[in-house]
Amino acid sequence: MKDRNKTKKSIISFFFILLAVLCFVSATSAADINEEGVLLKVGVPTDRCPVFYRDMETGEITGIGADLISLSARNAGYRVELTEIKEETLKAALDNKEYDIVMPFGSAITSASGAASIVTDNLIQTPFTLVTEEKRRFPPLNAAKVGMLKSLSGGAETVHQLYPGMEITLYQNMAQCVQALHDGEVDALLHNSYVWSYILQKPSYSNLSVQPSAMFSMDFRAGTLDDLKGREIIDRLNAGIAEMKDTQVQAIVLDYTSRRLYKYDFYDYLYEYGLVLGLAVLLIISLLIIFVMKQHAIHLEQEEKMRQLIDYDALTGVWSLKGFRKRVEEILQAHPDIPYFISYNNIRNFKFINDSFGMEAGDELLRFWAETSLKVLGENEAIGRIEGDHFVVLREIRGEEKFIEDENNVLNSVKNFFVNRGKDQSVQICSGIYVLTPADYQKIDVDHMLDFARVAEKRVKESGREGYEFYNPRQWEKGKRTSDIVSCFSQALTSGELKVWYHPQVDYATRTVIGAEALCRWNHSKLGWISPGEFIPVLEEAGYIFDLDSYVWETVCKDLKRWNDQGIRRSVSVNLSRKDIRGDFDIVKHFCDLISRYELQPDQLRIEITETAYVEEGEILADTTKRLEDAGFMVEMDDFGSGYSSLHMLKEIPVDRIKLDLHFLEGKGDMEKSRIIVRYMIRMVRSLGMKLIAEGVEEAEQAEFLHSLGCKEMQGFYFYKPMPTEEFEKLK
Ligand code: C2E
Ligand code: MG
Ligand code: MG
Repeated sequence: MKDRNKTKKSIISFFFILLAVLCFVSATSAADINEEGVLLKVGVPTDRCPVFYRDMETGEITGIGADLISLSARNAGYRVELTEIKEETLKAALDNKEYDIVMPFGSAITSASGAASIVTDNLIQTPFTLVTEEKRRFPPLNAAKVGMLKSLSGGAETVHQLYPGMEITLYQNMAQCVQALHDGEVDALLHNSYVWSYILQKPSYSNLSVQPSAMFSMDFRAGTLDDLKGREIIDRLNAGIAEMKDTQVQAIVLDYTSRRLYKYDFYDYLYEYGLVLGLAVLLIISLLIIFVMKQHAIHLEQEEKMRQLIDYDALTGVWSLKGFRKRVEEILQAHPDIPYFISYNNIRNFKFINDSFGMEAGDELLRFWAETSLKVLGENEAIGRIEGDHFVVLREIRGEEKFIEDENNVLNSVKNFFVNRGKDQSVQICSGIYVLTPADYQKIDVDHMLDFARVAEKRVKESGREGYEFYNPRQWEKGKRTSDIVSCFSQALTSGELKVWYHPQVDYATRTVIGAEALCRWNHSKLGWISPGEFIPVLEEAGYIFDLDSYVWETVCKDLKRWNDQGIRRSVSVNLSRKDIRGDFDIVKHFCDLISRYELQPDQLRIEITETAYVEEGEILADTTKRLEDAGFMVEMDDFGSGYSSLHMLKEIPVDRIKLDLHFLEGKGDMEKSRIIVRYMIRMVRSLGMKLIAEGVEEAEQAEFLHSLGCKEMQGFYFYKPMPTEEFEKLK
């Protein structure tokens, strides 16, 4: 029984011992003790290479400061854990219980919460250097404006104690510090010399230089809040610091300051090699542009080739149907004043030629036709082969002789192609000719014109003949006349074919001549007398009317001047075409210059503008009329009643005299109604206070009737017909 109790006791005491051992082990582990000592958490910055920074490879915090504190702490029996301070300042970090101590301090400072701190003995004397821009004048230290990193605010306090007159500004990071220096906000930047030796390797800081005259050193200490625990740590650390040998400290400093720690980042490379990079980028862009342009040129070339294929006939080199269409449209748009015809030509015995002489001979004939035609065609003409042996041609109408000449040069050579080569076979050509009308220029439809020409060509073919036929012979005649008018006009102006005649205007009551209208007369060398009713619209269309009108105006002014010199003062009405009024030309100035050149009074020149012009281009003509009248000229509305009188126009346009056209009294209509209209027209014009003249008065009865209505001035065949100057001069 005793034995059993003994055994029981010994088992229980064994458990107690075991428990005690376990408690001891757990107690020692709870106190963070192992063989290397108690854990000391040291809060440090990491942005101060080579004092504190993270090793790029291991990610661990290292540096001169890190090694010094580790060495002294180890000497004091601590195991060190370096932690990165997240707080903005050391002052704030002091209040964080996560760190047992923080560093670096130059001296003890109060924490952010206002608690007092306590610092270790000096670990090392760290040199501080001022850095400024090269060639910048530096003021005395105590009056300098200095920039520092915000995280060095503790150090800033120490510096402030040393130099109370120094104005210290804190910046978030080094880039901001440098910017402030560049901007002149501060005279210099202050930092640990070891850190400068690292930072100044940055290429973009190469213009910063150390201010050698302004170096001083600061203590490098660790600190914590001044409490029991803090004091205990500081005491232990001081013991460890005291144990550090100078040689150890120097070895640590040398180790880090002799390493090549600075690593270029992207911006450094950009700064360092910016020019080279820029040039490289420029080169690449240039190469790209050249490449794109080359591609574009190739594309255009291919397009042009495609266009050639589509627009040109591969066999003969003349236009294809598509190309011919486009070219004709271009030509007609550019030259609406040139009379043209289109011919459709076909070889009636082409099949026979191919069968008898072979396809190659047929092709040669087609090529010959194209070549011969191209020799006679002008710049604004075109030829196309639209299928097989069908050629289409756009030609200017230049009169009968030219047409016959072409017939001989081109068609006869084609006809005799084989005969001239010793073969007894003539080529039979059928042609249809369509003369373009003004409507064809308004709405250009080449297929439509070709259809007409083809109709005429078919008529020749179906009649079993060869040769040509017009789609509409009247059009051909008209086209030829138009061509004769336009092509002879310039010559006619200088040769004296064109003359100014005068149509007297009379006072009905006294039958005295009160003036005249100048009218143009043309005795054409080829066409004989042609009426202005025919050539004026053609010249208007062709863009020559101003040349004609200014010739007439000048002739009239010369006559008026001569008469003035003879002591006979006359007034003459001249016609002004609506096409004479162009946006880019000051017609009013033109008239003013004219009368001043011939020393005339403006009321001697009356200007007639037709009623239809006022209807169609009211605004610009109203303005011109107003300006002419302001210059002293009398403006007349010509042909009133013959057009589409828009009566409201009379109130808009300030004309002086209405020229009532009696031509509308002609014809088969009800004469009585016409008389009523004339009566009311005259009454209206008079009531509006405008002057009135009637033109086209052919009979005594008309004149009497007009006079009975109060119309005093008249012009018409009843009194006189238009006459040459010499005749007009003889009138009393
Ligand atoms: P217009 O300006 O209305 O000229 C009057 C036309 O009527 C003239 O024809 C004249 O000869 C004609 N006429 C006058 N009284 C009578 C008559 O009792 N019976 C008949 N049957 N006719 C009469 P003309 O000279 O043939 O001129 C026709 C048009 O040509 C003119 O009409 C005018 O618009 C225009 N014109 C004539 N010369 C010129 C000119 O130098 N420049 C411009 N731009 N146009 C002109
Ligand atoms: Mg007139
Ligand atoms: Mg008239």
